[in-house]
Amino acid sequence: MKILIVYAHPEPKSFNGAMKDLASQVLQEAGHSVQISDLYSLDFDAVGGVNDFMEIADTKFFNYLNEQVRATNDGGFVPELKTEMDKVVWADFVLFQFPLWWFSFPAIMKGWIDRMFAMGFSYEIRRNFESGIFREKRAMLALTTGSPSMLFRSDGKLGSIEDILHHIHWGMLRYVGMDVLPPFVAYGAARATAEQRAAYLEAYKERLRTVETTSAMSLLALPPSAQ
Ligand SMILES: Cc1cc2nc3c(=O)[nH]c(=O)nc-3n(C[C@H](O)[C@H](O)[C@H](O)COP(=O)(O)OP(=O)(O)OC[C@H]3O[C@@H](n4cnc5c(N)ncnc54)[C@H](O)[C@@H]3O)c2cc1C
Repeated sequence: MKILIVYAHPEPKSFNGAMKDLASQVLQEAGHSVQISDLYSLDFDAVGGVNDFMEIADTKFFNYLNEQVRATNDGGFVPELKTEMDKVVWADFVLFQFPLWWFSFPAIMKGWIDRMFAMGFSYEIRRNFESGIFREKRAMLALTTGSPSMLFRSDGKLGSIEDILHHIHWGMLRYVGMDVLPPFVAYGAARATAEQRAAYLEAYKERLRTVETTSAMSLLALPPSAQ
């Protein structure tokens, strides 16, 4: 497979950095081609808006979606976006590596989605979910949390990780048609012992070796605990 790792962490020596490096190594050893978008190293601009475009068609009223469709049709995205879009088109599988920040992606990764999953490029009004433009692609989230696993229960204060990630799984990845694999989560990574961290990396290696054959989740509009 052709695999794009989209990685967001400000510190290369972080545990997220170690997971990203491990994924790149294991996936290439398994015969896959890998490209990495290291968003902090790229100094990726997370703010979607007029800066996405070489020029604006309607200068009297900026309509972001209309400009995205127009730029898709006439190649009008700025080179920073075009480069990333080419990687998405190239990839069969997109792996997102990030620490859970405020129950979601770090803003730099959300900005990558805002700008990358442009209307016209990744979806159209009647081309979404199972008929989405990226329906031949697969995706998976690999993340770390600060809180330990015992707090992520559907009857607990934080809720289950499947519920927390549902807006990404359903509202972003599945929306553009991708099949979504179950996430890999290293819970409590910051305060884990060295042995626990080594065990997480070992378990992650196993997950990575089977990404090609792992079944996608069957997702619905409601978060899992509300189904
Ligand atoms: C803005 C913000 C919001 C947050 N919101 C949430 C939230 O909503 N929910 C939540 O649960 N948490 C939250 N957190 C906590 C955050 O999720 C954790 O701090 C993060 O997931 C820990 O991962 P890390 O990669 O940053 O760990 P690091 O602190 O970088 O790494 C942990 C340890 O692993 C070590 N390490 C590095 N490489 C290796 C290796 N190869 N082998 C073994 N050990 C290694 C590092 O040296 C370090 O000691 C938030 C944090 C911030 C900053």
